[in-house]
Amino acid sequence: MSGRPPVSLILASRNAHKIVELRRMVPWVEWEVLPEALGDPPETGDTFIDNALEKARYVFEKTGSWALADDSGLEVDALGGRPGVHSKRFSPQARDDTNNALLLEQLAACRDRRGRYRCVIALVGPGGEAVADGACEGQIGDELRGEGGFGYDPLFLPVATPGRTMAELDAAGKDAISHRGAAMAKLPWLLASLGLRAIAAD
Ligand code: IMP
Repeated sequence: MSGRPPVSLILASRNAHKIVELRRMVPWVEWEVLPEALGDPPETGDTFIDNALEKARYVFEKTGSWALADDSGLEVDALGGRPGVHSKRFSPQARDDTNNALLLEQLAACRDRRGRYRCVIALVGPGGEAVADGACEGQIGDELRGEGGFGYDPLFLPVATPGRTMAELDAAGKDAISHRGAAMAKLPWLLASLGLRAIAAD
């Protein structure tokens, strides 16, 4: 370890699964919890970038501290890129089980099941703002398999893990190939570009 003080970031999310994944991927950051009083950061944009920036800017404006937001979702080619930025609220009930059921229903007659997860992270603070992205290519399966992960993971078959859904991977296996892992691998460079830490993960 260097003698530099740790970087402290507020995580602009209330998604417990995302919080777990982000914390375990980057244990060298001091992650602060989003204060209850701030409510849910708004996400009204049409793109992952707009939404990630909107969430991080909201938290920075309210707290004056560095904030990191993740906006992510699943794009399915046969559905014209949906659910995309609407992944969380794809079904009216906005639950993982109902979202997955609706996805299976909409793809029932579809042979082309290609899609990808996308993730954009935005870092916003007193020194400016920066974004990075990551993607994970795959296919939508025709049945739910596995207990790990969250969201669409039991249906998502990454190209990198033939025959296994994202929910059948262990935590390290998911992080190594996931859209979130790919975006978060760029965090050291984001921090450095904003003068927060020269190289980071030491
Ligand atoms: P957000 O909170 O607006 O970024 O929406 C994220 C939504 O995208 C989640 O609620 C899930 O439906 C989906 N999603 C994002 N990342 C993942 C993942 O790693 N696995 C499964 N679903 C994901």
